[in-house]
Amino acid sequence: MNTFLDSLQLAWGLIVGGDAELWRIALLSLRVSGCAVLIGAVLGLWLGAWLAVARFPGHGLLVWLLNTLLALPAVVVGLLVYLLLSRAGPLGSLGLLFTPTAMVVAQTLLVVPLIAALSRRLVQAALDEGGDQLRSLGAGPLRSALLLLVHERLGVLTLLLTAFGRAVAEVGAVMIVGGNIAGITRVMTTAIALETSKGDLALALGLGLVLLAIVGAANGAILLAQWWAEQARAPAPATPLAARPVLAAAPARPVSQPLIALQQAGVSFGERIALQPLTLTLARGERLALIGANGSGKTTLLRLLHGLLPHSGRIERAELQPEGRAPRLAMLFQKPFLLRLSVYRNVWIALWLGGVPAAQRPQRCHEALAAVGLDGQAQRPARALSGGQQQRLALARAWATRPDLLLLDEPTASLDPSAKREVETLIEQVAAAGVTVVMSTHNLGQAKRLADRVAYFEAGRLVAERPAEHFFTDPTLPTEAAQFLRGELPWT
Ligand code: ATP
Repeated sequence: MNTFLDSLQLAWGLIVGGDAELWRIALLSLRVSGCAVLIGAVLGLWLGAWLAVARFPGHGLLVWLLNTLLALPAVVVGLLVYLLLSRAGPLGSLGLLFTPTAMVVAQTLLVVPLIAALSRRLVQAALDEGGDQLRSLGAGPLRSALLLLVHERLGVLTLLLTAFGRAVAEVGAVMIVGGNIAGITRVMTTAIALETSKGDLALALGLGLVLLAIVGAANGAILLAQWWAEQARAPAPATPLAARPVLAAAPARPVSQPLIALQQAGVSFGERIALQPLTLTLARGERLALIGANGSGKTTLLRLLHGLLPHSGRIERAELQPEGRAPRLAMLFQKPFLLRLSVYRNVWIALWLGGVPAAQRPQRCHEALAAVGLDGQAQRPARALSGGQQQRLALARAWATRPDLLLLDEPTASLDPSAKREVETLIEQVAAAGVTVVMSTHNLGQAKRLADRVAYFEAGRLVAERPAEHFFTDPTLPTEAAQFLRGELPWT
């Protein structure tokens, strides 16, 4: 107990007394471990992001190896680097042994597996949530992974702090490759080991407490800076719907011109058939509503149309005339995936991924945000918006890319009636601007209001498809579809 109290007293004395030797040792510790984590971050984050998206023979083995290396003892890393840098070793001629550079090399080797393994998990989890959305915006695998590292920057910061903690607290590697030379390679942990071996336990413990205090102060400063940055973004009032500019109408387009056609295209997940092969043509300017019970294949059809799924059969996209280009597609997912960035930046990134020139992006962002009443909220974090606002932002993001075909997966599910009305109004405006719209919905009134064609699905099979004005009253509707309507529409 006395040793502990003595060590507390010593630590306090060392900190407030500003002992020059102590500060030199502490600063070297921070410099060595800081450099190791910086280099380790560049290598480890790339490696982690790449392993999250790449698939190749031996991928699983590499992931297993990386996870196993997490348990690599610091002493073993020190020994390996020692053998490399010693006079008889392959890199002996560099003369790096017993220098701070050798200590940086050893600690970098120690933290790379940690950073890579944790960032792989982080990106993998984020990909599960938003991978399809990013692909739908045109991001390739590596761009998706890097965007998701930015999206998960808080997690990345936490893992870098963890790596820094592992580096700054290890003694085995720096002792072996640094040699604990006073004034040259002595760091906090080697000083602690030295005092322990000399039997001065109070001083050793005191130095340990000083190390903790320094790392605690560095962590605290980073967290404070983060908190301050979050506070700086104050919410702005929403623009009332009536005051918003309406989405601009595109020149009238011939409705009969085909845009996209499925030829016996179907989707299976392993043994499970999610969508039986179907043939379907969408014309420019059409609005198709997909209805059916949960699990009937509506989302699968939307993802198939977008080209996000491996499939049987063919998908044909007509070259648009007179523009002479392939149609642009955008999709709104049931649960919109927004990057943990500002409202503005979410739209900006969609334009960047869509290849829109940098000079045009700011204006297109502001136009799209103004159209959904979110221009005043441009600098707010996108994830701080309400559910309805997030859905409007997702619509603005899709709209900003000027799609020819907009795929909407239950765009108003879980919204309150007024948010639902707002989103419906926006969809009507998008459709009126000439965009082809395919929408899945459980709201039959909505299908009736917004669509000019309705398709009913059951167990992955297209059962019936009719113009909207006939669908709900057609006496020749197949029994399954008629039963579904009777169950859902008490007024039929
Ligand atoms: P909901 O109205 O609930 O959104 P849905 O009509 O959109 O349902 P889908 O999501 O298209 O239905 O699913 C159709 C079938 O495909 C379901 O049986 C579902 O379990 C299956 N399915 C969808 N995605 C996958 C997947 N990634 N892996 C395996 N099966 C899947």
